[in-house]
Amino acid sequence: MSLIVQKFGGTSVANLNRIQHVAKRVTQTYDQGNDVVVILSAMAGVTDSIIQLAHQVAPLPDKRELDVLLATGEQTTAALLAMMLKEMNYPAQSLLGFQVKVLTDDRFGNARIRDIGGGPIPDLLQRRNIVVVAGFQGSDDNGNITTLGRGGSDTSAVAIDAALKADMCEIYTDVDGIYTADPNICQRARKLHTISYEEMLEMASLGAKVLQIRSVEFAKKYGVPIHVRSSFVDEEGTMVVEEDSYMERVVVSGVTCDKRQARITLVQVPDRPGIAHKIFAPIAEAGILVDMIIQTSPAGGRNDITFTVPQTDYPQAMQIEERVAAEIGAKGVQGRDDIAKVSVTGLGMKSHSGVATKMFAALASENINIRLISTSEIRISCVIDEKYAELAVRVLHSAFELDREPPQPEQGASGGASACCA
Ligand code: ADP
Ligand code: ASP
Ligand code: MG
Repeated sequence: MSLIVQKFGGTSVANLNRIQHVAKRVTQTYDQGNDVVVILSAMAGVTDSIIQLAHQVAPLPDKRELDVLLATGEQTTAALLAMMLKEMNYPAQSLLGFQVKVLTDDRFGNARIRDIGGGPIPDLLQRRNIVVVAGFQGSDDNGNITTLGRGGSDTSAVAIDAALKADMCEIYTDVDGIYTADPNICQRARKLHTISYEEMLEMASLGAKVLQIRSVEFAKKYGVPIHVRSSFVDEEGTMVVEEDSYMERVVVSGVTCDKRQARITLVQVPDRPGIAHKIFAPIAEAGILVDMIIQTSPAGGRNDITFTVPQTDYPQAMQIEERVAAEIGAKGVQGRDDIAKVSVTGLGMKSHSGVATKMFAALASENINIRLISTSEIRISCVIDEKYAELAVRVLHSAFELDREPPQPEQGASGGASACCA
C-alpha cells in the first residue's frame, strides 16, 4: 500500500463529466489499497474569468481581496469532487488551504509556502478517507487567504506530497507527458520518458507552464518524484527525477518561450549616478521581478532604459514608472505587453561556443526581429514580437535538431532535449 498524491489541472476538472472521470481514477487508485490525497485546480478558464471580473471593479484590484476571490475557483472543484465521491459511497472530505495549514508569506497573488503541517490529513487518511484539497491557496500568519501564483496547484501538490512523505506525486494534465516541444505548438515534438529536475527547472523558469517552477524547486529540494501524465488517456507519462550525467553532453537541450512578459522603456532618462536606483527600487519594493534590462549609450546626456516584467505586474509597473519618470525628468514611459521571450537552454552550452550565432541566424532566416538579448552560462534569451513566438520555437527546434532522438546512453538516461512555449 502506498500514499499517492494526485493533482488534476483545469482541463481535467473543466466540467461535471470531467470531474466524474477524475472520481473514477481516484477511486481506482483507492480500491487498489492505496491512500489517496487529491489536489485540484479550478475549472479551466475560471481563474481567468475571476481576474476579469475583479478588473471590472477596479483597474488594480486590492491584492488581499483578489486572493479571497481567486481561492473560490479551487474551493468549488474540491467540494464538487468530495460530494461526488460521497455519492459513490466513498469516504471523502474536502479541505481548503488554511485547513491543511499551508502557511505562506503575505505576498498576495504570488505567495511562497513556508510550512505545511499539523492539519487533519494524516488523521483522515488513517480513517481511510480520500482527502480532496483545494490547490493554489494557503494562508499567512494573520489568517489571510493567499494564492501561490498562476499554475500554483502544482506547487500545492508537490509541497503536500513532501510534507506527508508520500510515495508518488502524479500531476494529471491535458498532455500525456513532457515533450521536446509544447505538443500544442510543435507537431514533431518528442515525448520524454524522464527529465531531470535541473532541466525541468530551466524549462519552467523560461515559460513551460506544464509545471509551475516552484513545484519543481520543491520536488528537487525534497526529492519528490513527479509523474506528469494525462487525465484523458491511461499511458505512462514523463518522470521528473534526479539529474543524470548524460544530460551534460547535450549542448542545447531545450527551446522555450514565454509570452507572459511585458517591456517598459523610460525614454530620454538623464544620464547621472543614482538614476537606475530610482527606477528600480520602487519596482523591487512592489515585489515585481525584473528580468532583462538594457540601456542605450548616452546621447546629449540622456539614454533610454528598457526592462521586462511579468505581464501580470505590467499595469502596476507602468503606474510606478510614470511617477518615477516625472520625478527624474525623463521624457516619458512606453510599454508593450505583446512580446515574447524565446530561449535556448542547455547545460552543455557552458563548454561550447557558437550557440548564440546559430540562434540569431535561425531567427533571421524567418525575418524575426530581436528586440532584447540576454545570456547566462546555460541559456540565451531573445525578446521578440509575440506574433512570432510559435514560429520562433519551431524554427529553433529544427535548427538545433531537437526532433532527433539523441544517441542513447548505456542506461538510465534522460530524454535529453526539450522545447516549449507558454
Ligand atoms: P493544467 O491546467 O493541467 O495545470 P497547464 O495548461 O498548466 O495544465 O499545463 C499543460 C500545458 O503545458 C499543455 O497543454 C502544453 O500546451 C503546455 N506545455 C508547454 N510546454 C510543454 C512541454 N514541453 N511538454 C508538454 N506540455 C507543455
Ligand atoms: N487555477 C490556478 C490558475 O489557473 C491555479 C492552477 O491551475 O494551478 O493559475
Ligand atoms: Mg498548470
